[in-house]
Amino acid sequence: MQPRVLTLRTEETERRYQEMKDRGELEGVCALCRVEPTRLYTNWKIIPNEYPYDKVFKHHDMVVPLRHTAELNDEEKAELEIIRNTYINENYRYVLEATNRTKSIPAHYHLHLVEIK
Ligand SMILES: [Zn+2]
Repeated sequence: MQPRVLTLRTEETERRYQEMKDRGELEGVCALCRVEPTRLYTNWKIIPNEYPYDKVFKHHDMVVPLRHTAELNDEEKAELEIIRNTYINENYRYVLEATNRTKSIPAHYHLHLVEIK
């Protein structure tokens, strides 16, 4: 029997996510750099999460800096505040940040943007 995995993903999405990890896709080109944006800012982009937390959320995007970095500079921080106060507040219910125990891509800063089911 498989050990129970603590996850916010449905079984099907969690399986796809684990298969992607097993294929080593998190070790090559950064997945957050690779995904095409649905919305683009000067220093940030909004991207869909290919492996959403669909057990509890119906809509799951991420906001990520265009720069591949874990540490934001002042310009990025200032623009993120503007995006949070406008587009993010108007379109999502919650902003989630995974802790280091949970992050699968710690090298590239990202926040999860979710709409509850
Ligand atoms: Zn990256």
